[in-house]
Amino acid sequence: MLLILFCFGACWASFITTMTWRHLIHSSRTYSAVSSCDFCKQRLPLGSLIPIVGFILQCGRAKCCDHRLEKFWPLIELVNGISWMLIPTTTLTELILFLISDSALLATCTEDWFTKRFSTFLLLPLGLLHWLSIAPPFTMANLIGTVAFATTYLLPGIGNGDVDWIIICCLALGPQITVPIVLAACLCSLLDPRIRQHRAVPFIPYLCLGLAVVLTTNVIT
Ligand SMILES: [Zn+2]
Repeated sequence: MLLILFCFGACWASFITTMTWRHLIHSSRTYSAVSSCDFCKQRLPLGSLIPIVGFILQCGRAKCCDHRLEKFWPLIELVNGISWMLIPTTTLTELILFLISDSALLATCTEDWFTKRFSTFLLLPLGLLHWLSIAPPFTMANLIGTVAFATTYLLPGIGNGDVDWIIICCLALGPQITVPIVLAACLCSLLDPRIRQHRAVPFIPYLCLGLAVVLTTNVIT
């Protein structure tokens, strides 16, 4: 069962991130029956379409045109697979609720990674996570925590989009969960090679990774 959930999570991440990339970022609204390479438009072999495995089989480069593939794709598929494996979803309703909030997170991650901006409204389904009993219901603490994070709008260095994400997370899940998420995101983002090159790093994928880490450790402990 765990393996099925992992495979579903990885495939779902692959589907949502590809859809976001093609239709929200590149807006190449072509719906064809067969998958083709985004760079040379050649038809893709079946093996390269398998999440994670496809990237490993091709050694991180498109077989057809040797174009370097972003590490973002296998990583997000892996993290989403693990999240699906560990998040407690026992009923169909819970599965659907998690599917909606998961899709919203995947889309915002992809947008931020490639464009350094994201659609804030996509994050609103984050509030649905209450129903999975992995986040406390809305309390006064959520409101106070949100106000506290909102004041970071005035700080330089952290992009406004990231603050929007943190504020919505705080409203939806509360500061008890948001603080460790931000901490985990900061630690994980240190691994990004762009930090050492003093280049801008998309922070929302790391915030989502932090959320996955904190929620799954909450579930385990
Ligand atoms: Zn190609």
